[in-house]
Amino acid sequence: MMYIHYCKHCNRIFMLNGHKMICPKCTDPLTELQISYLDYVDLDMEQRQAFKETCSDDEKLGQLRTTYRMYKYSKWYKKLQSQNTSDLPITSLLSEIARQNMNKDKRINHAEKTGSQS
Ligand SMILES: [Zn+2]
Repeated sequence: MMYIHYCKHCNRIFMLNGHKMICPKCTDPLTELQISYLDYVDLDMEQRQAFKETCSDDEKLGQLRTTYRMYKYSKWYKKLQSQNTSDLPITSLLSEIARQNMNKDKRINHAEKTGSQS
């Protein structure tokens, strides 16, 4: 299932598979929106632009957002929380993991280019 999310930092609407909590581009916390995927893809370019502008307004975004709470029952959440000894917000943990993965990718790419095994 696709869900519509908004990233304030990127000022972009993201159509993402599943309920995501952090931006795939900048790893900032995402806001999940009430609008359904089908309703969103039905909008033309102009309407999408207007919708995005509405989202950039904090007060209006407060009315458009939805909070997906079921993630608290998911395996990955429980696992993450069991390691969360300093009681950080879950979005901070997720963005930290995303950043680590990005760095890992970079190192792999670098190793491939230089032929190094390390
Ligand atoms: Zn972003």
